[in-house]
Amino acid sequence: MELPDSFGAEPNIPLSELTSFRIGGAAQVVLQPRTYDAIEEIVSFADRNGIPLALLGKGTNILASDKGFQGFVLRFDTPMHEPVYRGTTVIACCGTSLTSLARDTVRHGLMGLEKLCGIPGTLGGACAMNAGAYGGEIKQVLKRIRVLKNGTDQWIDVGEDDLGYRRSAFSFPDCIALEAELSLKEDDGSALHTMQNCIEKRREKQPLELPSAGSTFKRPEGHFAGALIEQCGLKGFSIGGAKVSEKHAGFIVNTGCATEADVAALIAYVQQIVKERTGVSLEPEIKRI
Ligand SMILES: Cc1cc2nc3c(=O)[nH]c(=O)nc-3n(C[C@H](O)[C@H](O)[C@H](O)COP(=O)(O)OP(=O)(O)OC[C@H]3O[C@@H](n4cnc5c(N)ncnc54)[C@H](O)[C@@H]3O)c2cc1C
Repeated sequence: MELPDSFGAEPNIPLSELTSFRIGGAAQVVLQPRTYDAIEEIVSFADRNGIPLALLGKGTNILASDKGFQGFVLRFDTPMHEPVYRGTTVIACCGTSLTSLARDTVRHGLMGLEKLCGIPGTLGGACAMNAGAYGGEIKQVLKRIRVLKNGTDQWIDVGEDDLGYRRSAFSFPDCIALEAELSLKEDDGSALHTMQNCIEKRREKQPLELPSAGSTFKRPEGHFAGALIEQCGLKGFSIGGAKVSEKHAGFIVNTGCATEADVAALIAYVQQIVKERTGVSLEPEIKRI
């Protein structure tokens, strides 16, 4: 199939190269568009031709299939323009790295994103997941969002109920988040310190030296997934190349040769044991392709 140059198409790319878990078979075609119009054209082209479409940001919350993906994988993980500052408001492309944006806003004398620095995804991925850490979440600052929804490129005012704990109305396949308008505050002098603190805590507590997709499970009401898993004696438990991290039981890590099947089996096993021993149901946070 002949595809326009603006689609930035490349055939047969292993999803293990595009996801932080380093797992997944080949995507039939990966597309890396450079303009918002190209994203719209790709979605419409896939739709007209009945081609399955998947959307990736930086692939840091994804468990990809060992069988790969037959269809288009749209990869939106590079900014199409620099952030635009207007007073305490910043408008940024959803392909922007969240961590770079957090650092940039702090350099601009603003606060609101400093606790999210270190989350390894894109701004779009953060809007789609309502990413958060250390008491901050994107919901607190996201005021308007430009999305491609039902074939229409539109700006939407974000409502109180649009985002909740790791839940968002601005997530694929409902829509593709293109740009976000964030309402920040003038830095009271604490932003840089908070940002450095959060990064330090990540280094101390998270198994950043091994591939993962971050926290495997959502936080169950009134509990911490990692603490429940540890309490059940599952820290360090492994199936194939997938292992419950020794450093943080809330993370499943890839010790080098993990397959999707290994991770899926380990997730199911952890869910079963935690349910049996504590009565708490764990719901995966990671998304599947
Ligand atoms: C070491 C590590 C630490 C992490 N720490 C945290 C943390 O502290 N807090 C936290 O919340 N998460 C954390 N994560 C998980 C992950 O980084 C976040 O969920 C992040 O927001 C995902 O962004 P992404 O660009 O990688 O999205 P992807 O993983 O590529 O995609 C995630 C989902 O969002 C959708 N999506 C992506 N971009 C868009 C878009 N533009 N429009 C619509 N939908 C889109 C995808 O289709 C998919 O369903 C961590 C992950 C790792 C590996």
